Amino acid sequence: WSLAWTLPVQVSKTVMYNSRSSRNVAVIGAGAAGLVAARELRREGHKVVVYERGQKVGGTWIYDPNVESDPLGLEPFRVIVHSSLYDSLRTNLPREVMGFRDYPFVAKEGRDRDPRRFPGHWEVLLFLEDFARDFEIMELVRFETEVLHVGMEEGKWIVRSRKRAGADRDDLLIDSDEVYDGVVVCNGHYTEPFIAEIPGIDSWPGKQMHSHNYRVPDPFRDQVVVLIGSSSSGADISRDIARVAKEVHISGRSIANETIGKQPGYENIWLHSMIKSAHGDGTVVFQDGSSVLPDVVLHCTGYKYHFPFLDTHDIVTVDDNRVGPLYKHVFPPLLAPWLSFIGLPRVLPFPMFEFQSKWVAGVLSGRIVLPSPQEMMEDVENFYSKLEAAGWPKRYTHKMADYRFEYNDWLATECGCSVSEEWRKQMFDATRRNKQARPETYRDVWKDQNLFSQANEDFLQYK
Ligand code: FAD
Repeated sequence: WSLAWTLPVQVSKTVMYNSRSSRNVAVIGAGAAGLVAARELRREGHKVVVYERGQKVGGTWIYDPNVESDPLGLEPFRVIVHSSLYDSLRTNLPREVMGFRDYPFVAKEGRDRDPRRFPGHWEVLLFLEDFARDFEIMELVRFETEVLHVGMEEGKWIVRSRKRAGADRDDLLIDSDEVYDGVVVCNGHYTEPFIAEIPGIDSWPGKQMHSHNYRVPDPFRDQVVVLIGSSSSGADISRDIARVAKEVHISGRSIANETIGKQPGYENIWLHSMIKSAHGDGTVVFQDGSSVLPDVVLHCTGYKYHFPFLDTHDIVTVDDNRVGPLYKHVFPPLLAPWLSFIGLPRVLPFPMFEFQSKWVAGVLSGRIVLPSPQEMMEDVENFYSKLEAAGWPKRYTHKMADYRFEYNDWLATECGCSVSEEWRKQMFDATRRNKQARPETYRDVWKDQNLFSQANEDFLQYK
């Protein structure tokens, strides 16, 4: 079913180009969202500091062969490994769709570059590094500086951070508190695992892990694996593992009854319904009545929004993976525009980050005016009521299946920008259809040559 995007509350919009205010703004995170947020905030005239706990820009796209000590990612005091990338990962969107509006992700020549339309993960990191260099964002970033606490005092935000001074873990740690007018949260949403609940799993003797800690298939050699979930990562990882494993059994909510059984084209992959229970004798039983004796259960079940540093006195909460209340997934009505979130909706990431960032920057300067807190709250409540009426669970609040482009176009219009290009919308849909028809080869076999040509013609204006 499709969920109509809630229309914005109608308010008069006074655009005050001549009275822009410059604010002191902290951005948390130097992934794709933080980088473009920093660019837009500075373009708008704000003073920006980007806090990044890692040593480089790029966030998710920095492949880390290390995994966490707890393979399920539940231990609260574990050392966090930020990225969930696996070694074989190629993008699931064509580069033309993925790139920023005015900084397209075009193929570049160079020894380490990957010119494919669906490149390997390292090419995305190189693209983000190019972006940071070309827009001189590096000078705004404080590396190895983790934000520990963000709280409000007398109408300002106090950001407490910890900088590691030196190369080793045991080196000097320097804590400091700094005061900002605004905080823009860009900490990424693919690090804190969401685990499937399985009746009886506590007495099941096998090994469990989450895809956050999956890197390469070798540890699964000759093993029987139950993989839960059929998202992009689940689909990629199941094929990766099937190259070496004895059996791979995929269990998922979206697996249609008529496809249950051996997956065509594979000797060792089976599709199942949801898991019914796990047992002390090692068996895992599916709702369709079949059962297996796996060595490993691999949860490819997604991630939780997590803001361990944020203290808003419960004005913003995460409830069943709904971050709220947030006006258009960005501003908490009672704290707007001084607190904002970039990147919560899980769709077409980079262009959306860019539109959201332009919006936040313009609102902070006073160039774009928000509705009143009451009006924003009303809009949020209407949106939640629509989700509820449609039977959409809370945890899918930021999943914008059928109105992703309406959302981006709404943001673009708020910011006075042109809406998403027609070729981008069509290419996104063409990719989705192609992926369904050719899940194994959609990255290399495609038929949207005309859209590809249109996109590249369009990109010439940004050279
Ligand atoms: P991140 O890239 O996660 O960056 C967040 C940054 O915040 C990190 O650098 C982190 O170190 C920093 N940080 C966090 N907490 C703190 C703190 N307390 N203090 C200081 N710094 C902090 N998108 C696509 O467009 N195409 C794809 O093909 C695609 N494939 C994906 C595959 C996988 C497996 C995953 C997990 C995601 C994929 N995505 C894809 C989505 C991807 O997450 C986004 O493209 C995007 O990179 C997210 O950017 P971000 O800035 O929101 O978060």
